[in-house]
Amino acid sequence: DLHARVKVASGDEIGSLAKAINDLAKDLQRYRDTRSEFFANISHELRTPITYLEGYAKVLKEGLYQTEKEKEQYLDIIYQESLRLCRLIHDLFELSKMEEGKISLNLEWIDLREVLENSVRKASLKVKAKGIGIHLTTAEDLPLIWGDGLRMEQIFINLMDNAIRYTKQGRITVEAGSVNSGSVRVSIEDTGIGIPETELPYIFERFYRVEKSRSREHGGTGLGLAIVKKLVELQGGRIRVISELGKGTRFEIQFPVKHDGNPEEARL
Ligand code: ADP
Repeated sequence: DLHARVKVASGDEIGSLAKAINDLAKDLQRYRDTRSEFFANISHELRTPITYLEGYAKVLKEGLYQTEKEKEQYLDIIYQESLRLCRLIHDLFELSKMEEGKISLNLEWIDLREVLENSVRKASLKVKAKGIGIHLTTAEDLPLIWGDGLRMEQIFINLMDNAIRYTKQGRITVEAGSVNSGSVRVSIEDTGIGIPETELPYIFERFYRVEKSRSREHGGTGLGLAIVKKLVELQGGRIRVISELGKGTRFEIQFPVKHDGNPEEARL
């Protein structure tokens, strides 16, 4: 029973042992709480698209629509919600593999400039469709870094997708440079809606969204930043966010030039 605490009020070794046991019990309880919260979140997130699928499939099946146009709209909702469901399941699977330490990185010396150019190229269609700009600047002296090129690309594409998603006008600026001889910094900045200061500490949490409805509208799953953070840490890096409501958001990632693939020991 986790509620039965060890009661010893002494400052000696037995006292500190009792404190250690109590702390452990608290940690375990916290772990149980977050785990059940996590499952509650998953069920909710899965149930929402399924409700749409069920509802609109029924409307179509029973011919409860007036015009062909209306029918097309319902079909489109079914299509979009199926895509969301696939994305959600895919992201959940990725995240759980990462948390169990079951993803293997293909570590090699990579050219960050090349990875960034590829990511910007892939984002450029969406950027054009939204009528905003994207600019990439990389320092001349950018060193090769030890990492997984595909996973790096996944990080940047995710952050660029968010920047595009939450920006109505202006531009996205991507920069890369060396911080010192041992590390490099990549920043992805937008001129979008920004994030309220009070929400900043939570945005890397699973399923956390500043505005549920807006994120849904944009097709978000609320898992993107949790995955990004894990991928950054797996490659020895750190990520932080700076944002001003109504002005824009800047994500900064610092990677060590070389790390041993152990996220805990590779901290800068
Ligand atoms: P989502 O799939 O909802 O975008 P993420 O984990 O990628 O989930 O992001 C979590 C939340 O952080 C988003 O719902 C959004 O509210 C906020 N957010 C992320 N990136 C940006 C950004 N560039 N500008 C404004 N808000 C952002």
